[in-house]
Amino acid sequence: MDYQTVLEEIFEEIKPFVSKGKIADYIPALAQVPLEKFGMAVQVLKGNTFFVGDALESFSIQSISKAYTLILALQLIGEGNLLKRIGREPSGNAFNSLVQLEYENGIPRNPFVNAGALVLADIILSHTKDASQTILDFVRELSDNQNIHVDVKVAESEKQAGFRNAALANFLKSYGNLENDVEKVLDVYFHQCALSMSCVDLCQSFSTLANHGQFPLSGKQILTPSQAKRINALMLTCGTYDAVGDFAYRVGLPGKSGVGGGIAAFIPGRLSITAWSPGLNKSGNSLAGTLALEWFTTKTGMSIF
Ligand code: GLU
Repeated sequence: MDYQTVLEEIFEEIKPFVSKGKIADYIPALAQVPLEKFGMAVQVLKGNTFFVGDALESFSIQSISKAYTLILALQLIGEGNLLKRIGREPSGNAFNSLVQLEYENGIPRNPFVNAGALVLADIILSHTKDASQTILDFVRELSDNQNIHVDVKVAESEKQAGFRNAALANFLKSYGNLENDVEKVLDVYFHQCALSMSCVDLCQSFSTLANHGQFPLSGKQILTPSQAKRINALMLTCGTYDAVGDFAYRVGLPGKSGVGGGIAAFIPGRLSITAWSPGLNKSGNSLAGTLALEWFTTKTGMSIF
């Protein structure tokens, strides 16, 4: 398959759609990212990487970070303990819904809604000396890039505007589903969301999930194949907000999106693929990014289905 030509075709065809979405300006620092950015990368498992546009430029990965903290939490406490505190069903609600958390008695629907990710941050805090550093080191390892950093301005900006997340964390605490101080949990969460990475970094890091839990560069087993299967299933059913059905229908890949406009997806056993464009659609997924992934799977005839 000539991936570079496919990416270049998409890059040309996507241009009229790139500025159509809306930036996630509820985090003030994100509002400053130019709407016209677009990048896309494909990394073939144990093969080459192909990319177009702004694929080497770092951006705020936001909720994509929840994939990494899910892996870490699973490694730290195991599946049985994790599932006592977080569910595994699509939410059918906004990612930052307070109502759902209340009527489900403080057990977040899944690890990718904000409440679920706050519990993951709490688990990492309870089981490591420095949770934020642990997350950063892990992401650098998975991405094979020691230069990945947290954009502290974005973290600070989210903290200033993070009233809903603070409310969710307090709710969780009141139900006994946070072990650590609310402030500490929020701090870890805001820092992981502010990780700055490129499409190429994301492709490298997601290739471990595409490779059944084994880091392709060294052969190190990060997750068991069974754990990788479960995480990948969660991404397919819960990874792209309340539009997860539409995403599966159109794109046909497991993946995780973030309000920074990034989407990281993969075909198990084959490749990882990422797209970035900061303009979001109504469900909070990158508008051009979703479209670009849909065109990729349509043009190549490759998806998980
Ligand atoms: N940091 C963002 C928030 O908590 C993450 C949202 C997202 O990317 O889904 O609102």
